[in-house]
Amino acid sequence: MSITGIRGFNDILPEECAVWRRIEDEAVRVFTAFGFSEIRLPVVEKTELFLRSIGETTDIVEKQMYTFSDRHGESLALRPEGTAPLVRAYIEKRLYAASPATRLFYMGPMFRYERPQKGRYRQFHQIGAEVLGTESPMADAEALKMLETLFVSLGISGVEIEINSLGCPRCRPAYKEELKGFLADKTERLCDNCKGRIGKNPLRALDCKTPGCLTATHGAPAVSDFLCDACGGHFKGLRSALDMLGVAAKVNPRMVRGLDYYTRTTFEVTSGAGTLGAQNAIAAGGRYDGLVEELGGPATPCFGFAIGMERLALLVDRNRVEKRPLVLFLAMGDGAGEKGVEVAARLRDAGLRVVADYAEGSLKSRMKRADRMGAGYVIILGEDEIREGVLTVKDMTTGAQEKIAQDKIPALIKGRSQGAQA
Ligand code: ATP
Ligand code: MG
Repeated sequence: MSITGIRGFNDILPEECAVWRRIEDEAVRVFTAFGFSEIRLPVVEKTELFLRSIGETTDIVEKQMYTFSDRHGESLALRPEGTAPLVRAYIEKRLYAASPATRLFYMGPMFRYERPQKGRYRQFHQIGAEVLGTESPMADAEALKMLETLFVSLGISGVEIEINSLGCPRCRPAYKEELKGFLADKTERLCDNCKGRIGKNPLRALDCKTPGCLTATHGAPAVSDFLCDACGGHFKGLRSALDMLGVAAKVNPRMVRGLDYYTRTTFEVTSGAGTLGAQNAIAAGGRYDGLVEELGGPATPCFGFAIGMERLALLVDRNRVEKRPLVLFLAMGDGAGEKGVEVAARLRDAGLRVVADYAEGSLKSRMKRADRMGAGYVIILGEDEIREGVLTVKDMTTGAQEKIAQDKIPALIKGRSQGAQA
């Protein structure tokens, strides 16, 4: 019996990789323009890091972490998200010493033990960005603008941004008590999970998607009504900065996020496109003003977000993935194979994407294969061509075929494929 992959862990096949590459390239371009630098972090961290940051009474920590002990009995975890590891590195490598606000982005796999379905996997990928060291709501607004810029550059429209403020350690406790009071006579309706953590973390019930929790929390008091003056002012500042930047965002007073470290601003980006189905959240994030200090660093207010790569990729128009046409170089007859490899190398130097086919077989069968490979052009080098000092170029889309000199080929193919794209 052959060995299969693991449920929820996907192979990203070449066609999909082309889309991913385009997203990653755009993200690097856009984020760099906003002054962010890339950071690459390990996929394994001490379990403790996630317990202390994400929170012990969250779905991620309670149910979704891949933890294991290494050979020395230390508990390690595959990272379920990128912010805690980034903050760990920020403190450990003293990245705060570099500048007042540090802007970093990352991309890579995350791991959560969830029920696999469309848009939800056990290994999934995120692109995330974090601004560390500023409390200004301008930073939140600019990060949202950056996200919107990325979507626009990828040709994605119809996304909706929802924002909320969760308050701070000064004003949230009063809200928590109020919410607990509201839920007190409705606990029977809550799912077992939320029932169990209502004492410590009643906000989780607002984020829970089970029908019981949805009805129990219906009409619950809104955290936004409990904000202290400072938090209320911050949220107002965010909304006017978003207005100024032309970023449309809707206030959703019910939205809390699935991680405990958030303070003040939280947001979620969803897509109305039917392609995503129930898993329609493509990016989410917010402020985590207390996390750096919580993890042993200096008091550092921060804002960050993460985009779900798999879900974003579903929204990218496949036709907009730039691709140079594939040119298949087909050499026929004795000695032509070697000559073909050499000519192919020169065509690549001239900027073409060329595969040299030096397989055996009839012209007909090899042309069929070129078609299956999706070649845009086939260049044929046979005995006639060698004798006449030319090459035959066949345009696989139109079927047109002509004999031309080798040095004219790059211009011909580039000209035609640009014409086709326009
Ligand atoms: P959801 O509500 O869909 O479970 P989440 O609140 O757990 O999302 P975050 O932790 O905020 O998500 O992660 C940010 C983004 O990462 C999500 O908006 C989503 O696009 C993506 N994401 C999260 N979990 C998964 C997963 N298991 N598979 C694929 N993408 C995911
Ligand atoms: Mg989740």
